[in-house]
Amino acid sequence: MIHITKPFLPPLEEYNSFIAEIWSRNWLTNNGPLVNKLESELKKHLDIKHLLYTTNGTIAIQIAIKALGLKGEIITTPFSYVATTSSIVWENCQPVFVDINLNSFNIDETKIEKAITEKTSAILATHVYGNPCEVDQIEKIALKHNLKVIYDAAHCFGSKYNNRTLLDYGDITTISFHATKVFHTIEGGALITKDPDLLKKMSRMRNFGHAGPEHFEEVGINGKNSEFHAAMGLVNLKYIGKILDKRKKDHERYDKYLSRLKLQKPKLINRGESNYSYYAVAFKNEQQCLKVFKALEEENIFARRYFHPNLADLPYIEEKYSLDNTNNLSKRILCLPLFYELTSVEIEMICSLILKNLK
Ligand SMILES: *Cc1c(COP(=O)(O)O)cnc(C)c1O
Repeated sequence: MIHITKPFLPPLEEYNSFIAEIWSRNWLTNNGPLVNKLESELKKHLDIKHLLYTTNGTIAIQIAIKALGLKGEIITTPFSYVATTSSIVWENCQPVFVDINLNSFNIDETKIEKAITEKTSAILATHVYGNPCEVDQIEKIALKHNLKVIYDAAHCFGSKYNNRTLLDYGDITTISFHATKVFHTIEGGALITKDPDLLKKMSRMRNFGHAGPEHFEEVGINGKNSEFHAAMGLVNLKYIGKILDKRKKDHERYDKYLSRLKLQKPKLINRGESNYSYYAVAFKNEQQCLKVFKALEEENIFARRYFHPNLADLPYIEEKYSLDNTNNLSKRILCLPLFYELTSVEIEMICSLILKNLK
């Protein structure tokens, strides 16, 4: 049995030593010392100024939308995980979908301006599979039309643009530290911003709106995370270099074995660097894609149609869109198994099954 992913688990003793600390302090949650330590180590590691550790990546998107006071329409990508769209709807805004670019698989920035109306308040884009969007172009559009920008960088730990972390763009960037992501804290996520006032506001919002024990400055939610989750992050952070190196090697292995098929893969933009968090390939058509999916499944190998369906087809989206590139890609795309313990023999086996079925 080979799953699409398998969470990285560090040596148990290392996690246990943090747990012993928690036991002796009896401080389990509410902005504890390990949460603070994780936040400061992440800021150092990523070379960024501000970061707030949250319960998960979805609550981070929701707090970002709330903190920026977004209303009306938010321009977004139909090719992402459902949380990108559902968070917009959850915050009582309307998602407006702009088609993707078939090279990068990210939102096509050249189509954004056409979608802007008087009601547009922001752009919420996903850096799909850890590959950067055209952040400079998106910033220009946002400045010209006075829009806010949020990046869903759930996939992007270790991704870079211009030799720097990709996590420092837009008004706010959100990330997920879910167990299936390259860097994880079991459940978890973060909010990243350069703006100190926005940071303060989001920090209150993360903690019920508290601005003092009996003082509430605004509506908040419970978006904080625990000492146990932070402990997992602190241990895993030591291994992130190894995890990212392994991902890159696995990509090269897949590429080598599958090269004959000339499958379509997402392309990086200029000055962009991926973290190789997913191995995504687009087959010629849906029929080929499903054939491979089923053939793997018969051998207990689980690929994933990530992302399918097109988010504009969600049952709670009423407007009709014609998003040719997204429709086309989401039907043909598969993410193949990729995780720290995956062996080169397993990759070879997966690839030979694919080759056999596409003969
Ligand atoms: C995983 C993911 C999320 C949600 O993150 P959680 O931490 O699971 O809430 C949001 N957007 C994208 C693109 C994701 O892959």
